[in-house]
Amino acid sequence: MTRPPILFSRPFRASAELPNIEAVLSSDHVHGDGPFTASATARLGQLTGSPHVLLTTSCTHALDMAALLLDLGPGDEVILPSFTFPSMATAVALRGARCVFVDIDPATGNIDPDLVAGAITPLTAAVFVMHYGGVAVDLDPLIEISEAHALPLVEDTAHGLGGTWRGRSLGTIGTFGTLSFHDTKNIHCGEGGALLLSDDELMLRAEMVREKGTDRTRFLRGHVDKYSWRELGSSYLPSELNAAVLDAQLAQFVEIHGYRRKVWDTYDTELTDWAAHTGFRQMYVPPDRVHTAHLYYLLAPDREHRDALMNHLGLLGIAAPFHYMPLDSSAAGKRFGYTPMPCKHSAGFSERLIRLPLWPGMTESEVDRILAGVTSFRGQH
Ligand SMILES: *Cc1c(COP(=O)(O)O)cnc(C)c1O
Repeated sequence: MTRPPILFSRPFRASAELPNIEAVLSSDHVHGDGPFTASATARLGQLTGSPHVLLTTSCTHALDMAALLLDLGPGDEVILPSFTFPSMATAVALRGARCVFVDIDPATGNIDPDLVAGAITPLTAAVFVMHYGGVAVDLDPLIEISEAHALPLVEDTAHGLGGTWRGRSLGTIGTFGTLSFHDTKNIHCGEGGALLLSDDELMLRAEMVREKGTDRTRFLRGHVDKYSWRELGSSYLPSELNAAVLDAQLAQFVEIHGYRRKVWDTYDTELTDWAAHTGFRQMYVPPDRVHTAHLYYLLAPDREHRDALMNHLGLLGIAAPFHYMPLDSSAAGKRFGYTPMPCKHSAGFSERLIRLPLWPGMTESEVDRILAGVTSFRGQH
């Protein structure tokens, strides 16, 4: 009996997507900044408590905007984790600034704040962090560092929409937070993102950076009588079609989160004994943070066991990949950055990590099949 393969990730279908798209196409306002942009922006403001939200074409572009707004340039250094998605580093390198790669805390996969403190030089211009799996980075020491050295903090919150750290929404604690609505993320619109910020002056500039460097947004509000080129910027505003899908997804945020959380909790409960017997470590969430059930990972005792489990699940038709080749040892990382201290936890995490399928709408029998697949693995083959 061959059973259909289990996908690793599958985009959620929100019920208002098609009617919303239909409404956009018949409205003669298909470019950005229409009613669905306004509605999705308001929903994100409510969900995160962020005073300002700007939809963008991607999280990568939101990071690019943050780098532009921080006026990063040649001679500047930006501290960021080695274990993360490359978009954080490209945002820095595109401005001509230098990436300084720092190791992670192996408990969470997030940047290690002690190592951030040790990597600061007179050239440091900002610290970029990421909340891996929607589990907050240890923010207390980072806020302290940021205040003591007047360094802006940028939170890559691609995994973290709806997550909190001591009751505060992820993405609203630093100078900027960035969200992703790529279709592998918890809430999606195909491709999309958002920039979160609280400073009013920065918001005026951010609107211009998003609109090709012009004050067109203020012009459309009637605040200026013509618009012109004011800033360095680009075209980071998504169309109403993307906003229409995003708005439909956000309307079902609680439901989507509930589906994901149920699968996450099942993995976490059902794999405890197996993990204790095989030497695998389960994903860890410190008690002062609420995570987003964006992903579920296991850490193998070593690379051989990870590869063997991946292979074992693959033969059972279960897609279970790993991710993030460490940036410090990547070709571009060496060209555009430097690494003051070896990132050995980042390398170990990447080598030992395996992720289980997780998406809203997985059936109980799919989850059972995955659990049976994992627990039938007893070691190297
Ligand atoms: C997905 C992801 C990004 C990039 O998001 P896009 O919206 O695809 O640009 C950036 N950072 C992290 C941590 C991600 O997971």
